[in-house]
Amino acid sequence: MPESNTRVAIVTGAARGIGAATAKRLASDGLAVAVVDLDEKQCADTVSAIEAEGGRALAVGADVSDSAQVDAAVERVAAELGAPLVLVNNAGVLRDNLLFKMTDDDWDTVMDVHLRGSFLMSRAAQKYMTEAGWGRIVNLSSTSALGNRGQANYSTAKAGLQGFTKTLAIELGKFGVTANAIAPGFIATDMTKATADRVGVSFEDFTKAAVAQIPVARAGAPEDIANAVSFFVGEQAGFVSGQVLYVAGGPRA
Ligand code: NAP
Repeated sequence: MPESNTRVAIVTGAARGIGAATAKRLASDGLAVAVVDLDEKQCADTVSAIEAEGGRALAVGADVSDSAQVDAAVERVAAELGAPLVLVNNAGVLRDNLLFKMTDDDWDTVMDVHLRGSFLMSRAAQKYMTEAGWGRIVNLSSTSALGNRGQANYSTAKAGLQGFTKTLAIELGKFGVTANAIAPGFIATDMTKATADRVGVSFEDFTKAAVAQIPVARAGAPEDIANAVSFFVGEQAGFVSGQVLYVAGGPRA
């Protein structure tokens, strides 16, 4: 049964990478966390890590691009953990290709997960936030929103999420709900490992080349993004809304 004094967060794509680090960070901030990912079983590690630290977490399997699955997942979170007042739209996929080789499916898959997924999740969760008169939505954009070779689909989706964020901020502000976006630069996760594989270089060399372009001279870690999410979700960020925070070790990656 829900414990009414604990705020509840939903983090999508939280089985690994940035989502897992964010789920753990929000749990250590005192929130109960719904760990949402495609496969419920894959959420087990994140859930156990949270529980091992004395936190409360629930594994929920859902494809964020599927309307019925999203509605069922959000309702389940409300019933089992409590009304979700924090939503982090983090689930993401890559289908990189140069424009002339990009298939319809490459385009649609990326739009579906990032844009449709964030839309469906936000629409389902805002009901609880507006009812409570308090809420926080954080969307994961990317420095790729500024344009990136081989990512016409992904950069379009990540730029779209910035417009989505600003519109949510305008519509939901009067209900005490803020919406902000974080645009990470190079973060060492399975996603960047997959990119290294695709371009045929070792992850070590790929990281070295990325770091050479980063003013703070290191790769980002998932925890760097989780720290920024924690700021936007906190009580003290209530007057910060509709913003895009580049967390990239410099002005852009
Ligand atoms: P990741 O390691 O690939 O993790 C993404 C997670 O999202 C995976 O667990 C994946 O599940 C899940 N997912 C994919 N499609 C889903 C769907 N339809 N429904 C539910 N879950 C789904 O990626 P990451 O590097 O942590 O990235 C997290 C977010 O940050 C993404 O939005 C990404 O675009 C953004 N970002 C990352 C970087 C970076 O350098 N890593 C930079 C900028 C922005 P499966 O494993 O089952 O596919």
